[in-house]
Amino acid sequence: MSRSCEERNSTLHVGVLALQGAFREHRTMLERCGAEVTEIRRPLDPADTTTAGLMALDGIVIPGGESTVIGKLMKEWGLFDALITCGKVGMPIYGSCAGLILLCRDIEGPEGERLDQPHLGLLDARARRNAFGRQLDSFETKLEVKGIGPDIEAVFIRAPLIAEVAPAMEVLAFVAAGPKEYPVAVRQGRVLATSFHPELTEDRRFHEAFLELCREWREEKAGSVEGCLHFS
Ligand code: GLN
Repeated sequence: MSRSCEERNSTLHVGVLALQGAFREHRTMLERCGAEVTEIRRPLDPADTTTAGLMALDGIVIPGGESTVIGKLMKEWGLFDALITCGKVGMPIYGSCAGLILLCRDIEGPEGERLDQPHLGLLDARARRNAFGRQLDSFETKLEVKGIGPDIEAVFIRAPLIAEVAPAMEVLAFVAAGPKEYPVAVRQGRVLATSFHPELTEDRRFHEAFLELCREWREEKAGSVEGCLHFS
């Protein structure tokens, strides 16, 4: 990665949700890309977890882990509504694996059974948890990801897939599961989600693309203070 790229990212301030799961790996990756990272966790200082506190960030990452646990802790620790507001006003949010599940509008189990668990509903899509079956519990592959590049290293760990997407969603990559191909990387506005874990690889391209969205959002915020204050 060129030095200028890291310098360009050095002014960006990204929050990584650090309630449970693989948040350190996202932190390391974003820092390697040059961004400043704050771990969002239990409100030690309540002012930092209000919507206003989160809105000061340029983007938020929701890591992999156990989506039921992360969702429950988001609620318990008062982050849930603030995260929804951030996504709705246009702040970039990137969810990997459990993060993808938490961003979707609906969630189902491996057999298509509807699951009722806390989730943010910022992506017009239905996530199917643990969708690749026991034999494929974990696997790695290389994917062509639209807008990001070819040969993206993709690590899947008890991964979800996207069983259904609304037309507003842009599908960035597919993977075959059984006889069909399913979306495993999607984008809707500045909300980005992957079934896989780019943070567990040496490939920075996904995080770089996310930081581009963060830069775009920061410029938009700077140009329109009103836009930040009048969200609903
Ligand atoms: N299987 C987990 C869940 O359903 C997700 C796994 C992961 O994030 N690596 O929440």
